[in-house]
Amino acid sequence: MFGEATLVAVLAASSLAVSVITLILVLVLWRRVKVQTEKAASLQAGALQAASASAGSGVVFCRSCGTQYDSAATACPDCKTARA
Ligand SMILES: [Zn+2]
Repeated sequence: MFGEATLVAVLAASSLAVSVITLILVLVLWRRVKVQTEKAASLQAGALQAASASAGSGVVFCRSCGTQYDSAATACPDCKTARA
């Protein structure tokens, strides 16, 4: 026959084990969710970069001399007139 103290010790040990297992599971799941969130964030950032790159890679005409140049440039490469 187990003594009451032994029973309490066994119960305490098993509940502690369950708590530790739960903590580990929560940590693993949380880390997994965090990685997925970071992946989604980097994907969104990549999409935003691609969108801004495609928006910035247009062609404009100089309003002063009519030279065609990339809209990423801030001034005309020919007459140096700033882009409007
Ligand atoms: Zn120009």
